[in-house]
Amino acid sequence: MSDYTHPYRDSEFVLQQLVEFEALCASAHRDDINDELVSAILAEAGRLGSGVLAPLNRIGDTQGACLGEHGVQETPGFADAYQQFQAGGWPSLTAAEIWGGQNLPNVIGTAVNEIWHSANMAFALCPMLTQGAIEAIAHHGSPALRDAYLAPLVSGEWTGTMNLTEPDAGSDLAAIKSRAIPQGDHYLISGQKIFITWGDHQMTENIVHLVLARLPDAPAGVKGISLFVVPKFLLDAQGKPGVLNDARCIALEHKLGIHGSPTCVMSFGDNGGAIGYLVGEPHQGLACMFTMMNHARQSVGLQGLAISERAYQHALQYAKDRLQGTRKDGSRFSIIHFPDVRRMLLQMKASIEAMRALALVAAAEVDRTTYAPDADAAKAHQGRVDLLTPIVKGWLTEMAQEVTSLGVQIHGGMGFIEETGAAQHYRDARILTIYEGTTGIQALDLVGRKTLLNEGQLISRLLDDIGETVAVLQRSTHLANQAAALEGALGAGRQALRILLDNAKADAHLAGSISVNFMMLFGYLCGGWLMARSALSAQALLDAGSGDPQFLKAKQVTADFYAEQLLPRVHALLTAIGSGSRSIMALDDEQF
Ligand SMILES: Cc1cc2nc3c(=O)[nH]c(=O)nc-3n(C[C@H](O)[C@H](O)[C@H](O)COP(=O)(O)OP(=O)(O)OC[C@H]3O[C@@H](n4cnc5c(N)ncnc54)[C@H](O)[C@@H]3O)c2cc1C
Repeated sequence: MSDYTHPYRDSEFVLQQLVEFEALCASAHRDDINDELVSAILAEAGRLGSGVLAPLNRIGDTQGACLGEHGVQETPGFADAYQQFQAGGWPSLTAAEIWGGQNLPNVIGTAVNEIWHSANMAFALCPMLTQGAIEAIAHHGSPALRDAYLAPLVSGEWTGTMNLTEPDAGSDLAAIKSRAIPQGDHYLISGQKIFITWGDHQMTENIVHLVLARLPDAPAGVKGISLFVVPKFLLDAQGKPGVLNDARCIALEHKLGIHGSPTCVMSFGDNGGAIGYLVGEPHQGLACMFTMMNHARQSVGLQGLAISERAYQHALQYAKDRLQGTRKDGSRFSIIHFPDVRRMLLQMKASIEAMRALALVAAAEVDRTTYAPDADAAKAHQGRVDLLTPIVKGWLTEMAQEVTSLGVQIHGGMGFIEETGAAQHYRDARILTIYEGTTGIQALDLVGRKTLLNEGQLISRLLDDIGETVAVLQRSTHLANQAAALEGALGAGRQALRILLDNAKADAHLAGSISVNFMMLFGYLCGGWLMARSALSAQALLDAGSGDPQFLKAKQVTADFYAEQLLPRVHALLTAIGSGSRSIMALDDEQF
């Protein structure tokens, strides 16, 4: 039995109204893709998500993967689900046709991926990492590597992993110690990697590890890291998996959540060296890996949205079913009638709709970069992708902590009891602000590379776009409250940027001290911008008498709630930003 239904209408609304998806496809002469096709794809994915993957979510939690004689054995039922997933052609949705892909836009892949992560995030991590591996090999691999590995990864016959982390090298990848010794046409890789998601399983006949390691002549630090493909099984003369490589999972981590996703300690080279092949140029591994990481960062942000949606559906159902009020006549009513429960539900709903809007708008910027008519346009869209990626990763995953916690709260005591499943969403969501770069690392990326390095140009352009929406809102007769709220929040965004640009040079601790508040401020602001645009679109559709009026009116109320209850958080964040680093850096280590 499934307790998850894909929220088609909201995804379609965002795609049609905010992403302007058909126009985007037309600009790329992709007339084969239209709203009807996208609706059909989402509906089909929704069926697999709710019918097959969602019922396995709880089983994954209670019967996580285990390590046996033949390696990692995944949760019962996952292999069969994976076969259905693969047979449906889902792994190849956005990959290039030359490798057997269906070449659909990234934003469609993103809308579909939301379904997998809502239905079963632990399961969906496996294809998510495979997508990253495909991108790294497609962009940086030699023709021979691409020929050997891409088609089976795209078809889902094989899966991919990302091996960065080591015991001494987490956020600081400069400390990576794994070694790669050249030997003929390949390298011998040795070292230990920890926390490797889906590092081993039995669902496919091969696993392609992308591994960061150092060559013997490598300079110290991040400039001395190279990237290698290390298959679980070496390929035979026909390109099929043959002999087992010297790479294996030696332990599984016991963890707070995502129990269905095996988190592996991987050992490379216990018997002389795992055979690996260089991807890209020597010492350029981190740059190559960033291709994977940027993709993965937006994907992890999407996971924040997806798990929040699942928690919301769960909580909403409970709020409708749970009787706790008694009327004067003795009849009982459900908790959804209490204002505070409605506040919590609306906070979940408004957060989720803003998160979905931002995730899809950011994903569409990747397509706009690909489809851009000239280099200048491509550069502008790439700039927007670069800017939004840490906000999508950082803000959506932080929001997911609050939304899934509200999901538990709405369940009352039953939320704390495992049987309802509300607690699983809360536990599963907790990893999201940690892997793929913690919130702190995303925030540093936003204030550093994405803002200070270009003197705030990227963020200023975003603020100008938000200003245009404020002007449109001000001309609207119905949305004066939204106009005032967004204008005030925009002012806070401009002030936060000024504080950073004016003071970062004089105070070396400023950027790091204000970074997370800065990122959260811009998350709430982007959310407010897109919710206001949603309200404008809803009004236009209502005026034109098209669309579902119930949905459109609810969208307006949700946007109002966001403007009244969530957007004002930017002002508190601005106050904290204005305090700079003074108290944060004032205590000696011993005084803590
Ligand atoms: C379930 C799970 C799955 C994972 N999957 C993978 C995977 O598939 N592949 C892979 O390679 N890795 C994976 N990881 C590893 C993950 O990416 C790291 O845990 C993460 O990058 C953080 O590194 P760390 O754990 O060493 O924390 P640390 O780097 O030790 O960070 C500890 C704290 O210090 C802060 N901090 C560290 N450096 C800075 C800084 N410069 N400025 C400000 N704050 C800082 C952090 O924000 C954090 O709060 C996974 C981890 C888990 C738990």
